[in-house]
Amino acid sequence: HLGNETAKAELGRAAWRVLHLMTLRFPDKPTADDRETLKNYFHLFARLYPCGECAAHFQKMLKEYPPQTSSRKSASLWLCSLHNKVNERLGKPEFDCLTLDATYDCGCGDNSTNTTT
Ligand code: FAD
Repeated sequence: HLGNETAKAELGRAAWRVLHLMTLRFPDKPTADDRETLKNYFHLFARLYPCGECAAHFQKMLKEYPPQTSSRKSASLWLCSLHNKVNERLGKPEFDCLTLDATYDCGCGDNSTNTTT
């Protein structure tokens, strides 16, 4: 089913982009409420993600690797490493997480998205 695979890949690219940009805009010094919100977001996302096979696998990954929410840097590197585990499972190349800042731009203009400095 080429059509289904194409749609699933398109969904995946869109979803990863939103997720990465969200962690890259997460506060450097999050409040307890910020941290709870990000953690809940990922758990709710994993429940509702429309590709059922993907969602089931992502829920297992969240149990094994709970969201890291102590800072922008920890959240964005945590998500990058989870995405790399999915890449590995799907036979895709590993992404260099040191290039996150250079790769992602939300176009929001105000705060810097810099994580690695
Ligand atoms: P994608 O993996 O979609 O990545 C898009 C772009 O993000 C890449 O081109 C690269 O620029 C960048 N990138 C790559 N790796 C990283 C990283 N580690 N950190 C930051 N940026 C990175 N598909 C399935 O077939 N089976 C599944 O079980 C499955 N589970 C998924 C679970 C989740 C939570 C999500 C969001 C998607 C899942 N997908 C799954 C879809 C799959 O991960 C890909 O999105 C899809 O196959 C398209 O792959 P792609 O090669 O275009 O790159």
